[in-house]
Amino acid sequence: MKVVAQANEAVLTILKRFLKTDFQGRLMKYCLAQQVEDGVLLFNLMTREMVLLTEEEYSRATELDYLRQRWFIVPEQLDEKECMEFVRLIFKSKTKSKGEITGYTIFTTTDCNARCFYCFELGRSRIPMSEETAHKTAEYIKSHCGGKKVKISWFGGEPLMNPTAIDIICDDLREAGIEFTSSMVSNGYLFDDALAEKAENKWNLKRIQITLDGTEDVYNRIKAFVYSDTNPYQIVLNNIRRLLDREIQVVIRLNMDLHNAEDLLVLAEELTRRFGGEKLLRVYAHHLFQDGVANAERYTDAEWNEREAAMNRLNEKLLGGGLLSRGVISRDVKMNHCMADNDKCITIVPDGNIGVCEHYSETEFVGHLDREGFDAEMVAAWKQTMPEVPECADCFYYPECYKLKKCLNESVCYPVFRRNQEEKVRQRMLNTYEKWLKAEGTENVLDEEDFVGQT
Ligand code: SF4
Ligand code: SF4
Repeated sequence: MKVVAQANEAVLTILKRFLKTDFQGRLMKYCLAQQVEDGVLLFNLMTREMVLLTEEEYSRATELDYLRQRWFIVPEQLDEKECMEFVRLIFKSKTKSKGEITGYTIFTTTDCNARCFYCFELGRSRIPMSEETAHKTAEYIKSHCGGKKVKISWFGGEPLMNPTAIDIICDDLREAGIEFTSSMVSNGYLFDDALAEKAENKWNLKRIQITLDGTEDVYNRIKAFVYSDTNPYQIVLNNIRRLLDREIQVVIRLNMDLHNAEDLLVLAEELTRRFGGEKLLRVYAHHLFQDGVANAERYTDAEWNEREAAMNRLNEKLLGGGLLSRGVISRDVKMNHCMADNDKCITIVPDGNIGVCEHYSETEFVGHLDREGFDAEMVAAWKQTMPEVPECADCFYYPECYKLKKCLNESVCYPVFRRNQEEKVRQRMLNTYEKWLKAEGTENVLDEEDFVGQT
């Protein structure tokens, strides 16, 4: 048996009070097993530990002391949910926010140079952040970050349509001695040499997400940029290269719907030819839904299956090309769903309103740059979770699952969602394992004898 990913020791300490020594054991509900060439990986989503067992060890897992002492094997009657809730409660009290806000999603403008038919911001007003509001934004960050390092995400519209606001905020923060790094969600079209240089040196841009919807003709048609006489597809791909050359990580998002699923396979091949082996470039595919909403009831089982099959084909192609995003297991206990239920994060829109969800730029605000404090009712509403469904009782994913009532993307649980989450976790397990294999020493090799009698 070998430890591939170390446990979160704080969780193990919290769980000590539930630990029993002599019990009839079964596999914990929050464990996922994954077959690999030299055995079976067993990942515990609650403790964050992952071990590699031989087939023989796996076949008698309930007898192995190490697994019994580390929450892989638990007493028959154990209530896992009670344990998980207890862990969350203790973590929550220990990580209680002191009111500092260190994550800022800043809408530099709600205008955009593309006209994607699926954009969730269609029909909204298109306004840039003024220089005055940009200065106020920096001032707000300065007085609310508690002197801590700040992470900024430039968002829009297309954030590059208002680089002046980015310049002002970065200059002011630098002048005030506030440490920061930034990321951006952009279509990438405007990244010429001068802006790429600024991104690297002035904006501290570490990561950018750029969406591609298809190969040249499909992309140019879907994006419908406002410029004529250009080939946006080629411009954006050249700009991706420019950013990579400056060591800025590029994450390409592929929006997949049934109308472009086949074309994305061709795009994946083209991206492999152009960027295969590039360490700083990763690609992930995302289901594109009507109005951006993954509402389960909108689709029949047959439609879901078709979508899923198309997604699997695309992921395989990306994996084969070495492009697929390679997330690994995190040792951290997940304490929230996203920025919307995280007290350390806010959004700031061009007119100075403050929100918590990046999908809203005109409503659902919790405050304003000109006012101290937040609307407590609105903040609480964004933290409300969906009632559990019957499947939660036995779901392996429970320790990582938060479903926010107000989230437009992921509030409903349905079979395909659960299958997708399982596939993602399995992929993270395999990525972690591969990484471990490359760096494998002998220090984590566990001899079952070492644990006999330890509690
Ligand atoms: S994925 Fe669905 S069933 Fe599983 S814990 Fe989340 S809401 Fe419950
Ligand atoms: S859309 Fe959902 S996931 Fe995205 S920020 Fe809003 S609440 Fe969070």
